[in-house]
Amino acid sequence: MMYDVVIIGAGPAGISAGIYAASRGKKVLITEKNTVGGLIGKVSTVTHYAGIMTEETGSSFAKRLKIQAENTGIDIIYEEVTQVELQGSIKKVFTKDGAYDAKKIVLANGTTPRKLNIPGEAELTGKGSKRRKKIYRQKHLRRRRRGRSCKGSSVFIKICETSYDHSF
Ligand SMILES: Cc1cc2nc3c(=O)[nH]c(=O)nc-3n(C[C@H](O)[C@H](O)[C@H](O)COP(=O)(O)OP(=O)(O)OC[C@H]3O[C@@H](n4cnc5c(N)ncnc54)[C@H](O)[C@@H]3O)c2cc1C
Repeated sequence: MMYDVVIIGAGPAGISAGIYAASRGKKVLITEKNTVGGLIGKVSTVTHYAGIMTEETGSSFAKRLKIQAENTGIDIIYEEVTQVELQGSIKKVFTKDGAYDAKKIVLANGTTPRKLNIPGEAELTGKGSKRRKKIYRQKHLRRRRRGRSCKGSSVFIKICETSYDHSF
C-alpha cells in the first residue's frame, strides 16, 4: 500500500507528526519497534508536557497517545525499520517483515539513553521511583543526572544511606 507519510517511531514526536498529517487528510503509517509512547512512556511521572493530567504516569500518557492516534485513522505497525530508500519521489521503508512505500518519510526514532553498566540497571530500568520511596529507604543510591532529570530524585538523597552521581 502506498502511504502519503511513513513515520519511523511512535514516541511523542512521531505520534504528534502523525496526528497533524492525518488531520490534513494524509494517509499515515507509523512503524514502531517497541511500544507507543517511546521514552516518555517509561517515565514514572510526566511533569512538563502540554495537556498532561496531574501526576500522570508515562504509561497512562502513552495510552492516551495511542488512542488519539488510532482515532485519527493512523495505521500503527510494530516492526523495526532496518533500512530506508530516500531517492526518487516514492521512498521505501524496509522492516524485517515487509516494505512500505511513501511520498514522505519522517524520522522520529528518538534517542537511546546511554547505559551506566552498574549492577541492577537492567532489572530496575523503567520501574519508576517516586511511588517506591519506601523501598529506597536506607539503601545505596546511584543518581543519573541529565539537566533537570534528577530534580525529582533529590528526595531520595535525604532518605538513602549513601548516594553517587553519574553525569552524562
Ligand atoms: C526520566 C525522564 C523523564 C522525562 N520527563 C519528561 C516530561 O515530564 N515531559 C517531557 O516533555 N519530556 C520528558 N522527558 C523527555 C521525553 O521522554 C523525550 O523528550 C521524548 O520521549 C522524546 O520523544 P521522541 O518521540 O522524539 O523520541 P522517543 O520517545 O525516543 O521515541 C522514539 C521511538 O522510536 C522508536 N524507534 C527507534 N528506532 C526505531 C526503528 N528502527 N524502527 C521502529 N521504531 C524505532 C523507539 O522504539 C521509540 O518508541 C523525560 C525523559 C526522561 C528520561
